[in-house]
Amino acid sequence: MNPTEKLAEMLEKVRAYSPHADLAPLEKAFAYSVKAHENQARASGEHYFVHCAAVAESLIEFKLDLPTVCAGLLHDVLEDTPVTRDQLAAEFGNEVALLVEGVTKLDTLQFVSRDEAQAENWRKMLLATAQDIRIILIKLADRLHNMKTLNFLDREKQERIARETVSLYAPLAHRLGMFRLKSELEDLAFMYIHPAEHAALEAEVREMTAGRDAALERFKSSLEKKLADTHIPHRVLARSKSLWSIYQKMQRQKKPFVEIQDGMGVRLITDTVANCYALLGLVHTEFKPVAGSFTDYISVPKLNLYQSLHTTVMSPQGDLIEIQLRTEEMHRTAEFGIAAHWRYKLGAATPDAHLEEKLNWLRQWIEWLQDLKSPREFLESLKTDLELHQVFIFTPAGEVKVLPAGATPLDFAFTVHTEIGMACVGARVNSKMVKLDYQLQSGDICEIQTKKGSVPKKDWLNHVRTARARSKIRQYLREKGIVT
Ligand code: MN
Repeated sequence: MNPTEKLAEMLEKVRAYSPHADLAPLEKAFAYSVKAHENQARASGEHYFVHCAAVAESLIEFKLDLPTVCAGLLHDVLEDTPVTRDQLAAEFGNEVALLVEGVTKLDTLQFVSRDEAQAENWRKMLLATAQDIRIILIKLADRLHNMKTLNFLDREKQERIARETVSLYAPLAHRLGMFRLKSELEDLAFMYIHPAEHAALEAEVREMTAGRDAALERFKSSLEKKLADTHIPHRVLARSKSLWSIYQKMQRQKKPFVEIQDGMGVRLITDTVANCYALLGLVHTEFKPVAGSFTDYISVPKLNLYQSLHTTVMSPQGDLIEIQLRTEEMHRTAEFGIAAHWRYKLGAATPDAHLEEKLNWLRQWIEWLQDLKSPREFLESLKTDLELHQVFIFTPAGEVKVLPAGATPLDFAFTVHTEIGMACVGARVNSKMVKLDYQLQSGDICEIQTKKGSVPKKDWLNHVRTARARSKIRQYLREKGIVT
């Protein structure tokens, strides 16, 4: 890497989305990081600074603000060099120092076990993230580059880091709506966790997509032809699916790749919400939609802010094609998630409702997690709450609650309301009495029975999976001196 060229490249990219910013701090952070890591090398043998530059470049790709990019360049300075927090604050200001401090690991010497160190580091990082979301964005960029250079580490480390990536970092990226980053992390991790399966599936998918690509191209061109006369601005994009998500689906459905129903799809991107529906109308006029396939995630966005219209149509050749319609803004949100919203916040006069909603969710969740003192319990709840496989459970009034797979009526009760959870004495699922450790299935209608004055039991801790329920139960038992 030529540092002068690299710096020029970064400056140009930042200038493109932030034309009025004073870029002197970036130049300074660049030089400072080069100097601070001067005598260090990565496991690859490269100069350590290459890693810092790569992290900053990811943050530039998310189009984040200058302090975040500077913090990306400096993110390992406190952990790996003699530079202190005060020195960093004196040179770059408190904002950058806070960001770097947020991603810096605790001193490992103070922990008895690796589990404890891992739990406490996550706890610290999430607390810092609740104060400033940019911290997790830097951490994710850091993890992405570490995953890309994992081949230089020994087998045991590779596996440990890859597993932590799929169980914690990728789901967190998913929760923050950062799908592109999430799939990148998962596919890299997949390669190290199941090398043989990864190689086999990659070959299979490559072979299969050769045929599919042709079908998809045919559809794309007939779609473009049909839309040629419309004045509605649009572009058509092909869609690819990550290997890890296909593999997960094979595992869940216990089926080989060829039997996995994995629809071919294209995306149609336009300027406004009204035009999404207008294009949908055109698409449905030209191609026969599959009954029941239409889902409107524009009027009802997913929890992670995802918005699009989904429909499946029959191509003239008889292939089923899934089409996602969305605005440019929705497209950016789908790719970059919370990072896209953070970007809009810059210079915006009014607070971004999406971002605030997301941050509230994060803060509340972190609060429940903080209550779980034991490292094992903390890490388990963290993983469970981030689990991507979720079940959708209905209240008797028809309201839907989203829970991690394996959740029980107790988890459901606490999700509806803390008081209902606390006074729970029984549950009916689809009108039948069930035990409190029953595993809820998607579509279940769950009705909680409560009794005034009833209180949580100690064994409930064995029957819940969510951090919220666990933290509320534990809090009560602790107050009563039943557990410590
Ligand atoms: Mn790093």
